[in-house]
Order: sequence, then C-alpha cells, then structure tokens
Amino acid sequence: MMRNVVIIGSGCAGLTAAIYAARANLKPLVIRGHEAGGQLSLTTLVENYPGFPKGVQGPELIEMMHQQSMEFGAEFLEGSVTRVDLSRRPFQIELGDSQWEARTLIIASGASAKMLGLDSERKLLGHGVSTCATCDGYFFRGKPVVVVGGGDTAAEDALFLTRYATRVDLVHRRDQLRASKIMQDRIFRNEKIKPVWNCVVTDVLDVAKGEVTGVRLKNTATGEETVKPTHGVFIGIGHTPNTSLFRGQLEMNEAGYLKTHDGAKTNVAGVFAAGDVQDHIYRQAVTAAGSGCMAAMDAERFLEAED
Ligand code: NDP
Repeated sequence: MMRNVVIIGSGCAGLTAAIYAARANLKPLVIRGHEAGGQLSLTTLVENYPGFPKGVQGPELIEMMHQQSMEFGAEFLEGSVTRVDLSRRPFQIELGDSQWEARTLIIASGASAKMLGLDSERKLLGHGVSTCATCDGYFFRGKPVVVVGGGDTAAEDALFLTRYATRVDLVHRRDQLRASKIMQDRIFRNEKIKPVWNCVVTDVLDVAKGEVTGVRLKNTATGEETVKPTHGVFIGIGHTPNTSLFRGQLEMNEAGYLKTHDGAKTNVAGVFAAGDVQDHIYRQAVTAAGSGCMAAMDAERFLEAED
C-alpha cells in the first residue's frame, strides 16, 4: 500500500501530473474523487486548449489524458479520500476502510461551484438550475434565463448565454458588478442582458412541477418580493476549493485555496498542489495542466534527492 506518488483528483491537473509521474517510472496512484474528470468533464466544446484547431469536447480530452497516463503505468482508484495525515511520512491516506501510504502527495482536488443554499435550488439542479453555462446553455435556446452573481464568472456566463437565450437577467445582490471592467463593458453593451440590481434569489420555482418556471426575488434595499418568470437559472457566484481535508495541515489563503511556493510546493515537504485547488485566478485547463506537470516534476526531484 506504499506508493511513491499519490495524486488526489483526476481532472486536468491530476491527470497531467499522472502522465509525468508515470513517465518518470514512479507508478503514481490516482484517486479519482467524487467529481471524476473534474470540471472539463462537465463542459462541452473546449476551443482554447492548444493543439486542437477545431476544438475538443471536454470529456473526450479528459478521457485521452486518462488513457495517456495509463499507457505509462498510472493506476486509478475509484472513490474519495476521507482523511489524510500529513504530520508524518510516509503520508497516511484513507478512503473509507482502505489505507494508503505515500512518499509524496500531489493534491489536485479542484474547486466546486458555490450554491445559494436553497432547498429548491438543490432539488431543481439539472432540471433548469445549472452551475455550468458552457455545459447547459444550449438547452435554453429561444428561452429567457437568469444568471445569479456579479463577478467575472457570472459576467462570462451571461455573455455566453446570449448565444442561445432570448434574454438574460443578471441578478446581483448589490448595485455594482465585481466583474472586471472589460467584462462590465461587454455586459452593458449587450442588449440581451438586463441587470437586476440589489436583488437576491429567495426561491426557485417550481419544485412541484420538477422544472424551473421562475425565481422569487427579494430586493435587498426595499425588502420587496417579486417573481421573475424564467426557464433556467445559472448560479455564477464563485467556487469553493476542495480543501476541507487539509484544513489545519496545509497553509491556505483566506478563501481556502492551498498556498504554493517555488513551483508546486506546499508548506509540507513532499506535498505538492496543482490546478484549481491552488489557483483562483486563471482556472484554465491549460494552466491546470501546466501546474500538474510542475507538481509531478517537483515530486520526482524530491524523491530523487531522498534516494
Ligand atoms: P467572485 O468571488 O469574484 O464573485 C462572486 C460574485 O457572486 C460576487 O459578485 C458576489 O457578490 C456574488 N455572490 C457570492 N455569494 C453570493 C450569494 N450567496 N448570493 C448572491 N450573490 C453571491 O467569483 P468569480 O467566480 O466570479 O471569480 C473568481 C475569480 O476568477 C476572480 O478573480 C475572477 O476575476 C476570475 N475569473 C476570471 C474570468 C475571466 O477573466 N474570463 C472568468 C471567471 C472568473 P458581491 O460582489 O456582493 O460579493
């Protein structure tokens, strides 16, 4: 059960780390996690990953990386890590009843979309409520949709959705967007996007029908409640890094993203981090892949220095 390299997460960062570690003959073990394949496996066409002039489907790209890593001897384990102990080496990793030991650990557990926390939102997820405009926008051709949030994610989602939707209501809890200036300019220039200021979504309708028919809004300034009819609700209020397992063991920033230095190193020697779990700024497939490569090379050098 002792491995040279254990990789937590099987998105773009984890799989790239697996390719590099496997090619270095380190026989990495990849623990796939609860959202196997990461965010790329939730998208459709990826047009900005280098090497694919006509684009590539996200799930296909992930599957190719998976195959590529297995060609060189990477092994995969289904399931999610339930506990880690990084206070001593080899590091201890638990998945329910099974236990693993790792000389080095690469954390590529990614980040998950934040939700509003409404019961109706949870019940209608996948039935008109979505956290991924690029995955689900197409289903709302010729229909009005609502996007919630005021940052770059919401702005990007709203702009993307104008390709399909007849109208995009951008619901924000304040009267100013947090999104970058260039995105704000695009939002305000786009006639299909209607900002709805000072409003929060208090309910998504209609759970009884099993589909989205509208959202109940509350004005944060006046307290007034209204219902806005819509067919889709896209939640674009940011992401939470999947780092709860490491709290108290690894250094994180105030939002919970792992801190790295000098490449992919964390504050614990032998533990490296790659991809969205340590990057809240770029969050691109290609940057995740790049950092996965860095983490694997750092792990390889760390092991070499020890042997
Ligand atoms: P942000 O944290 O920047 O924005 C989140 C937005 O959601 C804020 O407007 C916030 O409101 C709102 N919000 C948060 N929680 C709630 C809630 N419970 N109810 C209602 N509204 C809520 O996250 P993003 O994901 O937008 O961006 C994260 C980072 O990624 C940023 O640095 C961004 O620049 C970057 N990014 C860049 C992109 C690009 O350049 N193309 C694309 C996407 C992200 P409030 O403003 O009041 O806090």
